[in-house]
Amino acid sequence: MVASAAAHNPLWHPFADMGAVDGDRLVITRGEGSYVWDDEGKRYFDATASLWYANFGHGREEIARAVADQLRTLDSYNLFGYNANEPALKLAERVSALAPEPGSKVFFGSGGGDVIDTAVKIARSSFAHTGRPEKVHVIGRTQGYHGTHGFGTAVGGIAANAAGFGPLPGDISHVPYDSAEALEAEIQRVGPERVAAFFCEPVIGAGGVLLPPEGYIESVAGICRKHGVLFVADCVIAAFGRLGTWFGIDRWAVKPDMITTAKGITGGTIPLGALIVAPWVAEPFFTGKPGAPVLRHGATYAGHPVACAAGNATLDIYERDGLIPRGRELEKPLADALSGLASHPLVAEVRAGLGFLAAVELKSDFLSSDAGAPNRLQRTAREEGVLVRNLAKGIAVSPPLIAGEAELDLLASALPRALDRLV
Ligand code: PLP
Repeated sequence: MVASAAAHNPLWHPFADMGAVDGDRLVITRGEGSYVWDDEGKRYFDATASLWYANFGHGREEIARAVADQLRTLDSYNLFGYNANEPALKLAERVSALAPEPGSKVFFGSGGGDVIDTAVKIARSSFAHTGRPEKVHVIGRTQGYHGTHGFGTAVGGIAANAAGFGPLPGDISHVPYDSAEALEAEIQRVGPERVAAFFCEPVIGAGGVLLPPEGYIESVAGICRKHGVLFVADCVIAAFGRLGTWFGIDRWAVKPDMITTAKGITGGTIPLGALIVAPWVAEPFFTGKPGAPVLRHGATYAGHPVACAAGNATLDIYERDGLIPRGRELEKPLADALSGLASHPLVAEVRAGLGFLAAVELKSDFLSSDAGAPNRLQRTAREEGVLVRNLAKGIAVSPPLIAGEAELDLLASALPRALDRLV
């Protein structure tokens, strides 16, 4: 709905100009497959899979059943201390078995930001408990996005997202997102003995869908290994098929020390994050010796049985429907579908070709005359029946992995019309 009934509702939206939103809300009421409907019955192609997460689309009966069954059996129980529940045990086992590193441990959170902050704390405390308490410095990348919790805000490299919040956690710095040499230089500057971790999205998502240069991932992973710096692959977007593999980072022959996941782990149906921790990082907490350290960290809903039941049902869908490889199979068709946009007079660049996600960046002279253009493009695309995500300089798409030719054709025809309507 693009009208007035929702005006002056107290609901405060994340990352939104609330003055503009009020009276112009898009109220989504129903979803099925790759499509959603608003409260006026208008249908849209969900070309963003909501927020990079509805990888199997919307409205899967299997999830509804798994969640309802779990609610009837055990609706909640926490995971603190000795407590466990069966869905969490099962999901941890499955995620660990899929992880690139055998014997990985899995720590659950309520979403991506939770596991990002968990990863920083585990990195620092794992070193502290192995006699290297000075290893606290964390390096992120310009344009990186790691959620909006304390550490994630600080490690993220989109300056606007960190502005105005006062002092954020310290001992954190950033390097240009596309330069492995810059990482090497920054580790040398800080001193390898002080650097705990480097955070890296395999493909930067919210920061602009920025693909890594050829060889970049292997180089930064190698630099981290050489200096004893933990390589944390933030796969909150990249995992569960978005790049055509289980975790995204496993497209490259590298060994991450930690992998952050969320979103696609339940297809977004229930909030859940999962941090995968290589055994050598988790080791100090698993010695079994008297007085062994305890990780004094965890969220109330970590390993919530209903969320984990949704996670288990989600993995079943990915496995049964063969959805994981589709992120790779569809990368060229998506790039082809968007290639025509590159010659549009308002378009500077189309970024696509690695995984089932892409960005269309607008020309800088157009953006300098109208900084709100990405927002307006999101809006004109919506009027053309396609939901896209606005970025600082353009828009992103990341459709459900079940999208096919008809949906890609729709993108190819609707986006040029949406761009035309900007002028
Ligand atoms: N990391 C990445 C790469 C993300 O894209 C996001 C969210 O979009 C996060 C972390 C934070 O996840 P959440 O919004 O679930 O806290």
